[in-house]
Amino acid sequence: MDYQVLLYYKYIEIDDPQAFRDAHFEICTELGLKGRILVATEGINGTVSGTVEQTEKYMDFMRTDTRFSDIIFKIEKSEGHAFKKLKVKVKPEIVNLSLEEDLNPNQITGKHLPPKEFLKTMQQEDVIILDARNTYEYDLGHFRGAIRPDIETFRELPKWVEENLSEYKDKKILTYCTGGIRCEKFSGFLVKEGFKDVSQLEGGIITYGYDPEAKGALWDGKCYVFDERISVPVNRTGEKRIVGKCHHCGKPEERYVKCGNPECNKHLLLCEDCEHEHYRACSQECKEHPHNRYVKEHQLA
Ligand SMILES: [Zn+2]
Ligand SMILES: [Zn+2]
Repeated sequence: MDYQVLLYYKYIEIDDPQAFRDAHFEICTELGLKGRILVATEGINGTVSGTVEQTEKYMDFMRTDTRFSDIIFKIEKSEGHAFKKLKVKVKPEIVNLSLEEDLNPNQITGKHLPPKEFLKTMQQEDVIILDARNTYEYDLGHFRGAIRPDIETFRELPKWVEENLSEYKDKKILTYCTGGIRCEKFSGFLVKEGFKDVSQLEGGIITYGYDPEAKGALWDGKCYVFDERISVPVNRTGEKRIVGKCHHCGKPEERYVKCGNPECNKHLLLCEDCEHEHYRACSQECKEHPHNRYVKEHQLA
């Protein structure tokens, strides 16, 4: 059976997120969808999987709601469900940026560049390409020449910008993220901080990879995704570069695991040899941790 994964968001006011959440959970359960959907007063952010029929029905249902009649779904083919469960949660924000003073991307945000335009602009001189994702996402794949902010979560990004990019306020800045949702708010933050020329990749990396003209050009490696697939291809020009490196030995590697220490859980690019040698751990400490999962799975203790 053919499955699809949908990725979507919309910043729009939802008066009663809890009631919306409950009704939404019911409908998604009825349809048989799995995935993760976040609901807040500022909007909705979701990624779900299901059969083609289930996901088509869901999209039709969403579009009957005038608030979401123009919502954009990124659709990817899949061999099965990309999630184990369905979770619909109410949150303060649909992406956690935790700004001191929150902002509404419908009022302030960077320019939206469609894929072809983004590709063209990336190749101009004196442009700063800024990855708006976390280090473990960047390390698996990114746009050639992009800056890698040293952050583990999105909410660390504003502080990182203040400390590292303040001298670039007059430069042309291009930001990008997986589906576009993080950049909506982040680029708004940059504008508010006084950056004069801020643009964002419309539809994010996923849309860029499927764009018939951009074809994922200048993307090296793969794109990290927050579901069971872990990564998806982007560059469809025929050019193949692996940028991921094994955490321990440094050999080219695109395989992600979580550190064997359940209290660490760090995302690690790890080759199979090093997984066995280091008990799937990021450090000696994690290797020797009494609850190391690799040790348990292999009955080494
Ligand atoms: Zn290795
Ligand atoms: Zn660890």
